[in-house]
Amino acid sequence: MPEVYNWQLGREMYYPYPEAHPQWQFAFVFNINRCIACQTCTMACKSTWTFSKGQEYMWWNNVETKPYGGYPQWWDVRTLQLLEEANPGGQLWTPARSAQAPHGRYDGVTVFEAARLLPGREEVALGYTPSDEEWSHPNIYEDTAMGPKGKAGEWPTGVQLPEHQTWFFYLQRLCNHCTYPACLSACPRKAIYKRPEDGIVLIDQARCRGYRKCVEQCPYKRPMFRTTTGVSEKCIACYPRIEGKDPATGGKPMETRCMTACVGKIRLQGLVRLNEDGSWAEDPKNPLYYLIRVAKVALPLYPQFGTEPNGYYIPPRWAPRPYLRQMFGPGVDEALAAYTAPSRELLAVLQLFRTTQRIIYRYEITPGEKVYETTINGQKWEMFNDTVVGLDREGKVAVQTRIEEPLYVRSRDRFNSI
Ligand code: SF4
Ligand code: SF4
Repeated sequence: MPEVYNWQLGREMYYPYPEAHPQWQFAFVFNINRCIACQTCTMACKSTWTFSKGQEYMWWNNVETKPYGGYPQWWDVRTLQLLEEANPGGQLWTPARSAQAPHGRYDGVTVFEAARLLPGREEVALGYTPSDEEWSHPNIYEDTAMGPKGKAGEWPTGVQLPEHQTWFFYLQRLCNHCTYPACLSACPRKAIYKRPEDGIVLIDQARCRGYRKCVEQCPYKRPMFRTTTGVSEKCIACYPRIEGKDPATGGKPMETRCMTACVGKIRLQGLVRLNEDGSWAEDPKNPLYYLIRVAKVALPLYPQFGTEPNGYYIPPRWAPRPYLRQMFGPGVDEALAAYTAPSRELLAVLQLFRTTQRIIYRYEITPGEKVYETTINGQKWEMFNDTVVGLDREGKVAVQTRIEEPLYVRSRDRFNSI
């Protein structure tokens, strides 16, 4: 049986197909701390790809409120429960880290391994099919907080970092274009494939017969069934834009619709280069490589599921750590420490989020003067007005910005009249 290496788990794991990797991998980082749940990303996606008959309940991008919200409802809780049933009490991590296991080693079972533990289950990846009811409330429990409630029904606590007593946060979700996609391995028609040029995972609409095995076995519940056509659909990573086919950038690779629409500037999307064995080619000046592999400030969503998702999250500073560790793995404390007192380089790279529609392949930083000083966690912290430049695939400047963004004050004669 094929064993593949999953760097997010720090170990080999069972996957039904042998290792085969693309040259580049589509990936993205979301900074949860900045999201305002405006749903502009959600509507940018919907108005581009899923506005037709039969797609009414199809939200390839959604933003849900954790811990109660979810689309479909309880998608993560139910998958976590399935892992627990297959391997009671075993979903634990060994913290020892190395270059091959930057966040430690996962000693529990993945959805692929769990499926083989349960007698009588024939699926490749352990999963379930959500009910129609669970698909019918895309933004249920929006802004619903968790925490102690006072006698009068109000929430009396919860304003002190590092962990609020009363809390919620927004989780932005789309297909992770996983390295080891459960949807792909589940499909009996082999209708799902991963593109060798950019790692984007697609459903061949002509081959699909609507068995819905992908809907059942994707642990993130990203494939969705369309009753009017009888086939499944999912996020296509706006691949014409990634290919540079959108006229707006004159043939240059462009970020997806949900990324470029983001009002909160929480999203950065790009491509990371892979070695033949699937490991990430060293590329420390690629902003995604820097955030994920060098600063280790962005973490995969539920790495324990085992699909090696290519969506990464900067965790919210105020949420309880055990909850975050379950969701993003054992790297949470290190990521939050890095984000709370960012290095000069990290602060500069964070400025690149949502500054251009073009994909940034590399960045350069020019030092600027000191503009601020404070104390964070008892340590002196300084801020410098550095300049950061984002370069495109050809090494040309796609964007240039500074730590202190320029402030323009509208003159009196141009005030809004309303
Ligand atoms: S998130 Fe789900 S649908 Fe997307 S590639 Fe991974 S397993 Fe497949
Ligand atoms: S557009 Fe950005 S800020 Fe608004 S909900 Fe989406 S991810 Fe959050």
